[in-house]
Amino acid sequence: MNFSFSEDETTFLEAFQEHLAREKQRSDAAIIFAPQRETDSWLVDSPERRGFMKRLAEAGYIGMSWARDYGGRERPGIYDYLLNEELSSQGAPIIGKGVGCIGKTIIAHGSDKLKREFLPKILAAEIEFALGYSEPGAGSDLASLRLRAERRDDAWVLNGQKMWTTSAHFADWYWVAARTDPDAPKHKGISVFLVPMNHPGLTIVEIETMGDHRTNEVFFDNVEVPADYLVGQENAGWQYVCEALDYERFALYTVGPLLLRFEALVELVRRTERDGRPLADDPAVRARIAELACEVETARMLQRRVIAKAIKGDVPTVEAAMYKLYSTQLGRRIANEALDWLGPLALLSSDSPDAPFAGKWEMSDRATVVDTIGGGSSEVQKNIVARRGLGLMTGA
Ligand SMILES: Cc1cc2nc3c(=O)[nH]c(=O)nc-3n(C[C@H](O)[C@H](O)[C@H](O)COP(=O)(O)OP(=O)(O)OC[C@H]3O[C@@H](n4cnc5c(N)ncnc54)[C@H](O)[C@@H]3O)c2cc1C
Repeated sequence: MNFSFSEDETTFLEAFQEHLAREKQRSDAAIIFAPQRETDSWLVDSPERRGFMKRLAEAGYIGMSWARDYGGRERPGIYDYLLNEELSSQGAPIIGKGVGCIGKTIIAHGSDKLKREFLPKILAAEIEFALGYSEPGAGSDLASLRLRAERRDDAWVLNGQKMWTTSAHFADWYWVAARTDPDAPKHKGISVFLVPMNHPGLTIVEIETMGDHRTNEVFFDNVEVPADYLVGQENAGWQYVCEALDYERFALYTVGPLLLRFEALVELVRRTERDGRPLADDPAVRARIAELACEVETARMLQRRVIAKAIKGDVPTVEAAMYKLYSTQLGRRIANEALDWLGPLALLSSDSPDAPFAGKWEMSDRATVVDTIGGGSSEVQKNIVARRGLGLMTGA
C-alpha cells in the first residue's frame, strides 16, 4: 500500500510551503499562525485572518479543484486536502465551507444567477458562510429538521430555529436546510436556501461551548427569501447536504492538529519534573508516551485511508467514521494524560500566572470534548462503522 504523494503533489506542497514561509515574515503572522491554539482559528473572525485568506485567493489556492469554467484549476480534490493539511499543521486557518461545501454544491446544482453571484466572491475569499443544519431535536438525526419554509408568491418564508451555527455572528450568508414539504418522507421534503445573515428576521444568540468555541442559536421570524435563492431543486436538499458532508470528510479532517498536540505532550514530558525527577525518566510515563506515539501513527494511517479512498472517486464513509472516532478520542486521551502528569496545577486556566504551559492542557481537556461532537458525535461514528462497515443492521 503506497500512501506517498506523487511528484506533482510534492512540488505543489513545496511551493505552498514557500508561500507560508513568506506569510510568516509578516508583522501580523503571530495572529494567523498559532500552532498551540486549540480552537481552529477559522472559526474566529479577524481582519488578519480575512487578509490571509485573500492572499491565498490571489495566489490561486482557493477553488483549485473547481472546473476552469468557474475560475478553478481543475486539480483533483487531493490538492484541497494537501493545502488544508499544511495549513492546519502550521496552525493557520484552513479553507472550508465556502469553497467546498457551498461552492461545489452551487457548481453542481445551482442556477446561473447563484453561480454568477456567489462563485466569484468565494474564489476571491470575499465572503463568509455559516451552515444552518442542526436544530433542537435534529443533530445526529438531521433529517428530522423542522425549520419550516412556506412558498408565498415569489418568495419562501422561513420560521423556526437553528442550533449550533458556528460563524453566524460574523458570516455574510447563511446556508440553510429547511422543510419545504412536511407531508413527504423526512429525507424528501428538505430544501436548501441562501439567506443574507443580516436579514432583519434573524436573531442570533451566542452559545459559549466548554471548549471556548463560540457557536450560536438562530431564530427565524418570517424570514422572506426570494424564490431564486432556493438552491437547486425544491425538496432535493437532503442530497445536497449529504454531498457537502462528503466533501467535509475529505478536505476538512486534517490530522495536523492532533500531531501538534502530541508534539506538545512530548515537550511536556521533556520539560517537566515530578518529585525532583524528570518526567522523562519515569518508566511508566515512557511506556505510556510510546503507546500514544503508536496511536498517533494509527490515526495518521486511518486518515490516509480516507484520502486514498476519496482519490479513487469512492465515498469514504466508513473510513471517515473510523478516523473521526479514533482521532478525536485520541485527542481526549492525550489531554487526559497531560493533566495526570502535570498534577493538580494542571487545572489552572490560562488567566492564572501559575498555570503550567500557560494553561494549554486545561484548555485542551475542554476543547477535545467538543471535537468528539461537532461533525457527528462519537456514537454516530460507531453506528456507521457497525452498520455500514460491519454489516450489523439493527433489528435484522
Ligand atoms: C463546536 C460545534 C460546532 C458546530 N457547528 C455547527 C454548524 O456550524 N452548523 C450546524 O448545523 N451544526 C453544527 N454543530 C452541531 C453538530 O453537528 C451536532 O452537535 C451533532 O451532530 C450532534 O447533534 P446534537 O448536538 O443535536 O446531539 P444529539 O443528536 O441530540 O445527541 C445527544 C447524544 O445522544 C447520542 N446519540 C444520538 N443519536 C444516537 C444514536 N442513534 N445512537 C447512539 N447514540 C446517539 C449522541 O452521540 C450524543 O451523545 C456544531 C457542534 C459543535 C459541538
